[in-house]
Amino acid sequence: MCGVFGIFGDPEAANIAYLGLHALQHRGQESAGIVSAEGGRLHVHRVMGLVQAGFGPKELATLPGDRAIGHVRYSTAGGSHLRNAQPFAVDYARGSIAVAHNGNLTNHELLRERLEAKGSIFQSSSDTETIVHLIAASTQRAAPDRVADALREVEGAYSLLLLTSDEMVAVRDPMGIRPLCLGRLTRDGRTAHVVASEATAFSLIGAELVRDVEPGEMIVVDEGGLRSLRPFAPQPRRLCLFEHVYFARPDSTIEGASVYDVRRALGRRLADEHPLPVGDASDSVVIPVPDSGVPHAIGFSGRSGLPFEMGLIRSHYVGRTFIEPQQAIRHFGVRLKLAPNRAVLEGKRVVVIDDSIVRGTTSRKIVRMIREAGAREVHVRIASPPTAWPCYYGIDTPTRAELIASSHTVAEIGRYLGADTIGYLTLDGLVDSVREVEGRAGAPGAPDRYCHACFSGQYPVAFAPSPRARHLRLLGS
Ligand code: AMP
Repeated sequence: MCGVFGIFGDPEAANIAYLGLHALQHRGQESAGIVSAEGGRLHVHRVMGLVQAGFGPKELATLPGDRAIGHVRYSTAGGSHLRNAQPFAVDYARGSIAVAHNGNLTNHELLRERLEAKGSIFQSSSDTETIVHLIAASTQRAAPDRVADALREVEGAYSLLLLTSDEMVAVRDPMGIRPLCLGRLTRDGRTAHVVASEATAFSLIGAELVRDVEPGEMIVVDEGGLRSLRPFAPQPRRLCLFEHVYFARPDSTIEGASVYDVRRALGRRLADEHPLPVGDASDSVVIPVPDSGVPHAIGFSGRSGLPFEMGLIRSHYVGRTFIEPQQAIRHFGVRLKLAPNRAVLEGKRVVVIDDSIVRGTTSRKIVRMIREAGAREVHVRIASPPTAWPCYYGIDTPTRAELIASSHTVAEIGRYLGADTIGYLTLDGLVDSVREVEGRAGAPGAPDRYCHACFSGQYPVAFAPSPRARHLRLLGS
């Protein structure tokens, strides 16, 4: 998964982009990059790791101009190398262009083989580079027309930002799978246009959220102002529900709905669908797996009337390398991040709430840790349906075989985790809750307006691997 941020019309564009990316850091921690434009040239700085670590005053000083786009990356297509870091910036016959992409193209392998057969030389293994080559190959003159031309060939999910020396272009795929929003930043009497994956980036820089970029919309910002184009045939909307469940930050709003409110609504519905078995309520507690499960657990606690407590304490200082003691410590890895809070757990019936289960390995350790801290019973409640299908649209999920829910029933998962009971939210419960919050904000979506392929296996766009790539995968390369 990734995050994108762009700004046009502020003399400190790169500094503001840095702050915007910092607010989007949860969307990708693997690499970060900013490209600015000044004097007809693009200026590029890309690093592995976190925004804060890779950009200081020295690096930002190399990024002049009043326009910039930035990217934080969490690899989904292409490995973890600096050459896959974004924004991609290239010089071609008609000038220079930089591209920052959130999402995943489902037909990029086919497109890449076609382009390579015609002589294109790729520098990275990322799907995003395909877009750059398609733009270069377009016969249109103006950059926005070339971009539209290129994007008519790609399938899948994209929220994109592009920068040339003259304009910034923002595009959201016709199904609107990934979020993208438009804002305005006014400083010293000058107004800049800003675009970000999530509105939380606007809060940090003091910008105002104007609206979401519409599915299939292309926004072009240049010296003349902002214009909205519709270069694609309309398609049914398919907003990714996992953004609401886990990915987006709770202080963001997506298409009018507060992510925090959605998560609380999911927790309430989960409490209705899977209440605790009848028993002594006086010694029951609801605890989240922090941070992701916190708003869901608040909703569950409110609806069930059971007290919300912090039974697991999260360390915010988990870095990369740790020296393990020579003698094994139980649950060492998970303990680095989460510590059991015995004062809350001892002797209690514990309802532990998380947003989702992927492989089940962390969840299993958490259940054991809660028991070892003295819990009498452990009841697992998950605020989304079983994740049984990989995402081809930009969320980093393992293969189907690694997803525990693809090969185990809910009861089997409960046994594997060592839980007394387990309950997952239903797909109807998830869709109804999102619609309920969207409705309060003004406009509920139609029930079929979402992508829930990771839960249902109903993919809105088919994944189209090329025969060569499929062959290589079978060989394990
Ligand atoms: P596990 O116990 O290994 O299945 O891990 C479950 C945890 O992974 C949950 O706490 C989720 O919040 C978190 N999670 C879900 N999806 C992702 C993702 N795509 N990347 C990283 N973490 C995730």
